[in-house]
Amino acid sequence: MGEKNFSFQIGDFKCMAVCDGNYTYTKPAPLLFPTAPGEELDQKLREFDVDPDRWLEWKSPYTCLFVDTGENKILVDTGGGKENQSSRDKGQLTDNLKARGISPEEIDFVILTHGHPDHICGNTDENGKIAFPRAQYVIWKEEWEFWNSDRAEKELPETFKEGLIRCARQKLPPIEKQLNLIEREEEIVEGVRPILAWGHTPGHMVVSFGSKGEQLLAVSDLFVHPIHVEKPKWYTAVNYNPEQNVASRILEKAEQENALLIGFHFPFPGLGRVKREEGKWKWEPGER
Ligand SMILES: [Zn+2]
Repeated sequence: MGEKNFSFQIGDFKCMAVCDGNYTYTKPAPLLFPTAPGEELDQKLREFDVDPDRWLEWKSPYTCLFVDTGENKILVDTGGGKENQSSRDKGQLTDNLKARGISPEEIDFVILTHGHPDHICGNTDENGKIAFPRAQYVIWKEEWEFWNSDRAEKELPETFKEGLIRCARQKLPPIEKQLNLIEREEEIVEGVRPILAWGHTPGHMVVSFGSKGEQLLAVSDLFVHPIHVEKPKWYTAVNYNPEQNVASRILEKAEQENALLIGFHFPFPGLGRVKREEGKWKWEPGER
């Protein structure tokens, strides 16, 4: 079963990448890079040690993030949930937290980066009970309104619509009493700031953590594959509305602050930094 937790530090913040499980996607190229020119994509895949001719499956971890600021315990995204299993290997978030002595009752904030199934299905357990009973659930206001209105039916592509909407309507309403909708990039608690990075979905959020001059950016699905860091315009087939400026803004911020990045779908634990070489973005995986 591979690694499940990875601990690291950002200033005074104790952080942990927590694996909720893995999911194997078939036909990865048309899903991840539908608009990429064939030859360029093949070359880029080889740079990332992928043989383009044999790339029939993409095994992606679902990596949630736990941060203890000293004052608050924060979770970013709740993973794929235990029920409706198309893959048996997911929904392990709470078990993996418990294995490190963290109970669901201790979580003060659950920040949901967006309303896709792999990020919100752990909102409730397999009996439909709220998974983090004391937590405030934080989500961007437009994201909440999108999934809870007929905009979702009207605006999503036919191919993905049904599954996405079914999950959102099952997993978002139970958190309504604990909801904290945000509209501005103001700190949620000291050192923890939401950044609107829409495009993947209407209210997709990146979360920035800063302590003692060190920065962490939880980029979620702004970059689904590490190649997207270098080629942000090769957006995925499930993107709601590609908005390139958002990616450049985050990449520039990451470079300026020498921030560590954590990607939800990147190879576990999903950490690395961005560098600019001759005007081109470069992904450097690593934990430091
Ligand atoms: Zn997504």
